[in-house]
Amino acid sequence: MTKIGILALQGDFDAHGRRMAQLGAQAVEVRKMEQLGQIDGLVIPGGESSVFLHLLGEKGFQHLSEFVLSRPVFGTCAGCILLAREVENPAQKGIGALDVTVRRNAYGRQIDSTILTGPSLLGLEPLEQVYIRAPRIERTGPTVEVLASRDGHAVLVRQGKVLAATFHPELSEDPRVHGEFLRMVENERH
Ligand code: GLN
Repeated sequence: MTKIGILALQGDFDAHGRRMAQLGAQAVEVRKMEQLGQIDGLVIPGGESSVFLHLLGEKGFQHLSEFVLSRPVFGTCAGCILLAREVENPAQKGIGALDVTVRRNAYGRQIDSTILTGPSLLGLEPLEQVYIRAPRIERTGPTVEVLASRDGHAVLVRQGKVLAATFHPELSEDPRVHGEFLRMVENERH
């Protein structure tokens, strides 16, 4: 059975675990970096990216950066910020596995949470997108595949083994984004 780790330092890791279980994968909450050796792929959930950095510390950040090179990783919202090459508002370090520039809390305070639906490359049905104090991807590098966008900005992207969304697919009923990630993980295992 495919084992998916959900980084459970803070944030909304629960919903990701439930979705992975629904899709037939085994979800494991990852609290210690030593657990990374036992999983086939990792989800970095939403939360506060600055708090993640603080809780990870220098060592945890190094471990995570190494893991991202070897196995598929899916980041949502704060997870997307952590994976980015460049972070703005304010500037903060990122793992750099995803060649994007991301602006934190880019939609301002009034409209900080919103639900939209839009097209995506995951199928004909429009994709629901739940945004919570969301970042905005301001730049995507040439090898970044854009799977969905909002107002001309990428919101679901893939680069190699890294998948990232600026919204929260774990809060929608639609399982397609997690399903796509599981496919990436299964392809790597074979
Ligand atoms: N605003 C958060 C940050 O900048 C991200 C919000 C989220 O993950 N829902 O890290």
